[in-house]
Amino acid sequence: MFRKVLIANRGEIAVRIAGTLQQMGITAVAIYSEPDARALHVRAADEAYALGGKTSAESYLRIEKIIEIARARGIDAIHPGYGFLSENEDFAQACADAGITFIGPSPQVIREMGDKIVAKEKFVAAGVPVVPGWSGSLDAGVDSIRPHAQKIGYPVLIKAAAGGGGKGMRVVRSEKDLASSLEVAQREARAAFGDGRIFLEKYIDRPRHIEFQIFGDTRGNVVHLFERECSIQRRHQKIIEESPSPAMTPELRKKMGDAAVRAAKAIGYTNAGTVEFMLDEAGQFYFLEVNTRLQVEHPVTEMITQHDLVRAQVLVAAGEELPFSQDELARHGHAIECRIYAEDAQRGFLPSTGTLAHYVPPIGANIRVDSGVGEGSEVSSYYDPMLAKLIVWGSDRAEAITKMDWALSHYVVLGVTTSIPFLRAVISHPEFAAGRLHTQFLEQNAIRTEACEPGHALIAAALVLQNGRATTSRIEHAKADGPWQSVGAWRVR
Ligand code: ADP
Repeated sequence: MFRKVLIANRGEIAVRIAGTLQQMGITAVAIYSEPDARALHVRAADEAYALGGKTSAESYLRIEKIIEIARARGIDAIHPGYGFLSENEDFAQACADAGITFIGPSPQVIREMGDKIVAKEKFVAAGVPVVPGWSGSLDAGVDSIRPHAQKIGYPVLIKAAAGGGGKGMRVVRSEKDLASSLEVAQREARAAFGDGRIFLEKYIDRPRHIEFQIFGDTRGNVVHLFERECSIQRRHQKIIEESPSPAMTPELRKKMGDAAVRAAKAIGYTNAGTVEFMLDEAGQFYFLEVNTRLQVEHPVTEMITQHDLVRAQVLVAAGEELPFSQDELARHGHAIECRIYAEDAQRGFLPSTGTLAHYVPPIGANIRVDSGVGEGSEVSSYYDPMLAKLIVWGSDRAEAITKMDWALSHYVVLGVTTSIPFLRAVISHPEFAAGRLHTQFLEQNAIRTEACEPGHALIAAALVLQNGRATTSRIEHAKADGPWQSVGAWRVR
């Protein structure tokens, strides 16, 4: 087994990975940029080394620098987390070249699945349904593409072969917009991914996003750990995820799970991965893409299966057999995750920066908080504004929703504006309760975020200052009525 593992990441995922490594008796090594010198992930690790630089490009994306640190410090393996270099085949290859184990799939699989056109072809070959579409040469100009778009039928979606994070996608509603959209999409793809290749897909109206967690080892075993529904998205970015999907039936789960495993086997998949699908209103599913890494929303799967996915990643990377077979895997209850962002939903989701004057996450049975920050943390504008993930488990969906609402309402963050009021509004929406989810949910349902007026925050901050940190418990949420209602969510006991 590895003795020392470097975590090539920051924030909540670096903290979370360090925890599992330490629980396995492995030394967790952090790396950090200048603004992160005192970050929580640095304190959570056993050792930490400076990368220098402020922006991602100057720090967490520097392959040579990371390999240099790993070599100098006797690192056996590198866990890339998600984002940053996690799906970068050059990084996986650089690790291999330096004799360091990359905790993830092979560079070849990362490359193939990173190209959506290639991935789609591979999945078609494995007999998995894909969204009807077209890919081919764009050299002959727009006129040669028009008939393909017509055949698919408008609206069509232009996607970037190298796309990710919801970037590089454009919906074309009618033929007159095709030429200009193709041009813009190509330009955007080239700028964002250094790869201007694009392809067309039928734009599916109000689909659900349903993905399967897959896992393979180096001995040819591949399993799935059921589905996650991630239909609540803003600009194609997930914000609430859950498992099981309210739309799932045992038959559909079997069909989709089998398709995911079949395709994973066909490409020789090892370690953790996610096969993403869309499910249309008629119940037909289509392959979307494969993410060759640990997913942000993996705790939802951990809650319902009771398996630590990072531990399984480490074991498999060390050449061991998967710690679970398909028959041994079972689902229990219902888990929901909310991504807590430092942004202001009432001001166009503007990122909010500052120092966390007060930070008290909720505590309770079957409530998990994967946090990248703590009291006193600086939230800067250099990186993704996600502060933490709040995950709850209930014996069924209704219980999980009620618990999530409680947990959100007991999540105290002072110093930056967060998405907590917005998340509460979403999970309290009757359509959410009914499980009628789709990827346009936030655009098509009126989400009324209760204003957290600046005054409320000021009162709360004053109370904190007045009472000091030791008296956190003396600040609690106001009941629905009573004199304290006028100060919003806060009162002194
Ligand atoms: P990325 O790699 O950028 O995340 P994906 O291919 O995974 O891109 O798609 C992200 C999201 O975009 C999906 O979850 C879905 O909401 C939407 N989407 C993608 N393809 C289609 C499509 N053909 N029709 C409708 N929505 C789509």
